[in-house]
Parts: sequence; structure tokens; C-alpha cells
Amino acid sequence: MTKLRRLGRVLVANRGEIAVRVIRACRTAGLPAVAVYSDADREARHVALADAAARLGPAPARESYLSIPRLLAAARETGCDAVHPGYGFLSENADFARAVVDAGMIWIGPPAAAMEAMGSKISARERMKAAGVPVVPGTPAVSDTFSEISSLGFPVVVKASAGGGGRGMRIVRDAASLSEAISSCRREAAAAFGDDTVYVEKYLSSPRHVEVQVFGDMHGNVVALGERECSLQRRHQKVIEECPSPAVSPDLRARLQNAACDAARAVGYVNAGTVEFLLEPSGAFYFLEMNTRLQVEHPVTEEAFGVDLVALQLRVAAGEPLPELPSAPSAYAIEARVYAEDPDAGFLPQAGRLLAWIEPSGPGVRVDSGVTAGQTVDIHYDPLLAKIVAKGRDREEARGRLVAALGETVALGVATNLSWLKRLLEAAPVVRGELHTGLVETLSLPAPPPPPDEVFEAASSVLSRAAREPGGSSARGVFSSPFEGRFRMGGA
Ligand code: ADP
Repeated sequence: MTKLRRLGRVLVANRGEIAVRVIRACRTAGLPAVAVYSDADREARHVALADAAARLGPAPARESYLSIPRLLAAARETGCDAVHPGYGFLSENADFARAVVDAGMIWIGPPAAAMEAMGSKISARERMKAAGVPVVPGTPAVSDTFSEISSLGFPVVVKASAGGGGRGMRIVRDAASLSEAISSCRREAAAAFGDDTVYVEKYLSSPRHVEVQVFGDMHGNVVALGERECSLQRRHQKVIEECPSPAVSPDLRARLQNAACDAARAVGYVNAGTVEFLLEPSGAFYFLEMNTRLQVEHPVTEEAFGVDLVALQLRVAAGEPLPELPSAPSAYAIEARVYAEDPDAGFLPQAGRLLAWIEPSGPGVRVDSGVTAGQTVDIHYDPLLAKIVAKGRDREEARGRLVAALGETVALGVATNLSWLKRLLEAAPVVRGELHTGLVETLSLPAPPPPPDEVFEAASSVLSRAAREPGGSSARGVFSSPFEGRFRMGGA
């Protein structure tokens, strides 16, 4: 605790569930946490939870959460000594990390040089090859001649070197489509990342996405905390993650962990990071990229290993050596990402007012959420509402608890993927743990069950009460308590 005080006040340079998660960790460590917010987030949960809060600017992220000068000014004005970037926004921006350090504050993350080394996928692949870590076969930056690409054999995938979130990626199945795929990847990369450098990888058929949690300290220690299986994806973005992977034996885990630690050591890594691999059925695995920050899916590692990764981030940033950590998972954990999106409309993000929000609970259930009933889900930001995590003695117990927890979760007013997640977790290959990154696209999930009669009764009683009220009622009045008098949920 004495050493942690060196961190002083922590600016949490993020919003939503991850800001809530980090603020809680600061509080547990006895450190005051300062939230930042845009005009759209004035009343957000992370703001209410923090010890103090600073306005950054208008809703667009460029004028608020992505503005380095505004974040630095907020840190200075609120007397902060350290900055935690969360994930997304500026968390992998080496310029921000450097600016924080230059301003005399502690960056709760890896050194800027390590972030830079892994920031370009092309240079990261070169560094990994030099360190003896296997990488997906591919070409360096795309040149004018396609002969090298064709020699990889189709299909291939064109990717943005500065990429993230599946943006820009194009799968190409024949030489005739290559040129157009490269141009459109370049266009998307330039718009999304301000860098149109693209490269090409062999597109592996039906691999698993398996990633290793690593941690380094300032005393030369680098450790790995097992793997996470993140093969259930839509549009190349993860939706369900688990720890451990049903496909990883203790021997394979040891090999994955060694490769991940080699990758981290090769760039002088400190603090929490994730080394992503594609795993083939043969057990061969290939480096995909390293995320130089805390991952969205970090809770499954925390639950399976019984560690608090954010608390560790704070301790390591304060200069403490890593403590003794478990060498293997002692439980099974699965996480589902609840998004404001419409699975029936190509997972299109949704915005609107969240009229009711009820979180599940019960043995082995954890909810990392950043929302409250009544708030507006804004189109400016990532539509992640919450992560629901279930833990069990084995995979089936964790899966059963997660299905039940999703069934208990209520989100009204904005379309979500809640029902889709539940049906996905009940699909036969998912139950059996036979996962691969293309699985979601191949499944035809059963239609969602119709709402139970109680829902129609509740709706009609609410509407008829509203009609009886003198002068009618506002939408908020109608919907603020849709279950009142009919049934109670969430122990209310
Ligand atoms: P991003 O950084 O944009 O998220 P990644 O390189 O991490 O992109 O890849 C995201 C996902 O895309 C992977 O988890 C996997 O499902 C798919 N993918 C990426 N590269 C390949 C590849 N070479 N072969 C097969 N699938 C791939």
C-alpha cells in the first residue's frame, strides 16, 4: 500500500464498463480515481462512481476521449499523478503514453517503445519472427507485384497494418479479386487509422483464436496467465470468450505461454498485455498480434485464475515486483458481451434510451457493466453495454450459469444481442466446445421464443394506466416501471 501511494490520484481516461472497472480497482487499492466525460456522458455511471470528474468536451470522441491535450489538461486540473487508459480510445497510442510520462505522471500500461513495436502489425510480425515466435505465413507490406501473394495460395486475407477491431480486413479467394480487395482495404484503413499500409496473410481455414495473458514488471519478470479462447466472433470481433480453452492441454498451454513470454520479452514488455494466436486443429499455432493493454475479455482470466489484473496493473505501475501467481486455472469462466446491436440486421449498432436495465446475479455470476436504466446509449461510442461472466467448476457449469444469467438480464428500449447470445451458447457445437473463428457464420440459430404472456399483460396494464392519467403521461413515466404491479424482478 505504501508503494501504491506513489500513484496518488488516478485519471481514468475512458468511459463505460472499463472506466467503472478501473475506478473500482483504484478504490480497492485506496487510490482516489478521477473520471473524464464528454457532454453525452455527463450523467454516466462511471462519472457518478468516481471521486471527481472532469469534462473533456462535446460528444464526438475526437473532441473528448481521443483528445490528448484535453485529457492531459483534465489530469493536471484535477491533480492526478497517474493515468489508466482502459482499452480502446488512446490505450494503444504511444504518443499518449509518452505525453503522460513527459508531463511527470505515471502511465499505467507498457512503455511507449513496446507499444510502438507492436503497433504496426507488419513490424510486429518481423520482431516476432526474429524472436523465434511462429507467425501466420504472409507477405510484408504489399508491393506492386502480386506474385509473392499468389505463392501463399488462396484464400488470403488483406489486412491493415495499423488495424484493430476487424476493420479493413478482406478475405480474397482468387487472384482476380486481389486488386480490388487491396484498394478497398487501403481506403478503409486510411479512414479508420490514418494509415493505408496493408499486408497479406494466408487465410487459415477454421482456426481457433487463442490468446495468452502476459504480465511484465519493471524487474525483468514476465509471466503468462493461461489462455483465453475467443473463437466465437461476428464480423471478426469477439462476442464470447472463455478461460481455459477447451482445446488446450497443459502441454499446449506451456508451449503457448512460452511463445507469448518470448514475444513480450522481445519488446521489453511491462504491465498487462495479450499475445493473440491462431491455433490449428493440428496444434500448430501462429502469432497474430499483440494487444498492448488490458483486454475487454480480461475477466475470464481473473475468474479462472483468481487474480485481479487491474489491481496488478496498479502495483506493477507503482514499481512493485509481480507477486507469486497461480500457474494454472482453478475454475472455468465464460464471458458474453452484451451489445446494443441488432443481430437480425447484420449486428448493426443501436442507439436510444435504455428504459429498463436489470442485471443478473447468483452463484458464480459477475457483471461488468457501465450503464444504468434511463441513460441514453449514444451512437458516438462502442455499443458494449455490459459483460456477463459466469464461473463454474467445469465448462458445463460455467456455460449453464451464463445461459441462466443472460435469461435473467433485462434491457428494454434498445435492441440488444441478449437473446442471440443465449441461443448461441445453446448451439450444439458451442455446447461441445467445438469452436472455430468461422463457426458463428455457419450456425443457423433457432428463432427467439415469443415474449411470454406476462409481457403483453404488463404492457397493456402500463399503457391503460398511462391513458387514465390526467393529461396523459410522458414516455419516461410510462416506461420507468414497466413491471410494477405485475411481477418483480431483480429483488426490487
Ligand atoms: P484486428 O486487430 O483487426 O482485430 P486480428 O488480426 O486480431 O485483427 O484478427 C481478428 C480476427 O480475424 C481473428 O480472431 C480471426 O478470426 C480472423 N483472422 C485474422 N487473420 C486471419 C488469418 N490469417 N486466417 C484466418 N482468420 C484470420
